[in-house]
Amino acid sequence: MKKNAPVKKNDIVTVEFEDLTHDGSGVAKVDGYPLFVPFALPGEKAKVRVIKVNKGYGFGRLEEILEQSPDRVDYPCSLHKECGGAQLLHLSYEGQLRAKEKQVRDALERIGGLKGVKVHPVMGMENPWQYRNKVQVPVGFQNGRTVAGYYKKRSHEIVDMTNCGVELSMDDSIVLKIRDILVDNGITPYDEKEHKGTIRHIVVRWAKATGEIMVVLVTRTRTLPNQEELVKDIVKAIPNVKSIVHNINVKRTNVILGDRSLTLWGKSTITDMIGEIKFAISPRSFYQVNPVQTKVLYDQALQYAQLTGEETVIDAYCGIGTISLFLAQQAKKVYGVEIVEDAVRDARENAKLNNITNAEFVAGPAETVMLDWQNEGIKADVIVVDPPRKGCEESLLNTILAMKPKRVVYVSCNPGTLARDLRILEDGGYKTVEVQPVDMFPQTTHIESVACLELE
Ligand code: SAH
Repeated sequence: MKKNAPVKKNDIVTVEFEDLTHDGSGVAKVDGYPLFVPFALPGEKAKVRVIKVNKGYGFGRLEEILEQSPDRVDYPCSLHKECGGAQLLHLSYEGQLRAKEKQVRDALERIGGLKGVKVHPVMGMENPWQYRNKVQVPVGFQNGRTVAGYYKKRSHEIVDMTNCGVELSMDDSIVLKIRDILVDNGITPYDEKEHKGTIRHIVVRWAKATGEIMVVLVTRTRTLPNQEELVKDIVKAIPNVKSIVHNINVKRTNVILGDRSLTLWGKSTITDMIGEIKFAISPRSFYQVNPVQTKVLYDQALQYAQLTGEETVIDAYCGIGTISLFLAQQAKKVYGVEIVEDAVRDARENAKLNNITNAEFVAGPAETVMLDWQNEGIKADVIVVDPPRKGCEESLLNTILAMKPKRVVYVSCNPGTLARDLRILEDGGYKTVEVQPVDMFPQTTHIESVACLELE
């Protein structure tokens, strides 16, 4: 029995929203019982239908907004409620930035128990549209035609990009051109259920500073039919394309890219610049998706590192060496570690490309490589970490505590794991001096932050 729930399924209740969850739902309380309601905003009063009742919380659907938030805006997409792409379209950009600042502060307090940490207002974008330098969309067959676009929420139904009302990537029309070229050349779309068909994903990457474009065609099959025609058509349709890659992913999996990449035409990488530094990017390497804000983020990380030219710095989870090379300009020596070997190869190439000789890169799990470094007697003055969403391994945090750098700069794409990890570092003798959130993902619920910690 769900004794403590004051509502039951299909009840209509009138509620006031007081908060926004990290996935963009409004939170209202009925006698202290939280109801999560998608598309509701804090400050709004609404009629809500209860659709699911759990023990400690429930879910509802907006029936009618009675009092609207001044931050609510009309959005240009008719599929907003079905699509999982841009969750905060109905909230003004100003409102998004305020909500994200609160999200970071709340996570630090509630998850990390970090009270009173200085969290600065989010650094946002002047133009929060068409910022993404990468699109990767599944290709499928629906209603008698080949479609390519994002998945609907909690489903594997594709919303064809033709119907997409907002553009977050630099140019969605390229995906549509490639979809049509694939159809014209008889390439069959992948059927997820039967694990049949050829083309699984279209990936497009842009190097904003140079204009170079990479197209990756991910297939289930080891061969890609009509390659020559495909290449000819793509080069003709997309003037700035500099690299066309065939990636093979034979597995039944949600992971997009397979292990094998073959360059069909042009270069195997494209080259971008952040600030003064050039980066070559491979199909499988991680590269920040918002180049304008990446510069803002890295400048902040660099500022927090407070380098004078004398320091030894470790950059853990370094990807293709982006932050490492930024740091290397102002440090004595930088050690980068990253688990994806292709990315480490790119990082070494990128150091050469920029004539940077004081950066060294190792491929492997950061948690074991850092332990090796510690055992070899490497002493870091500053350690920068930039882990994926799940945060740092506890063993890595313990190695940091054992290495005792003067400063730790934590770059995070997940306030929850940031808060959890800062708690561990605080318990080990570090003090979180301040946190600067940077909006790398406008219109979505994601938020990036940089935290600056000092050894007490
Ligand atoms: N600092 C880089 C990359 C950050 S993304 C940049 O700003 O571009 C996080 C990176 O961590 C990814 O490149 C991912 O491949 C890597 N990674 C994930 N788990 C890891 C682990 N256990 N050890 C080292 N690197 C890891």
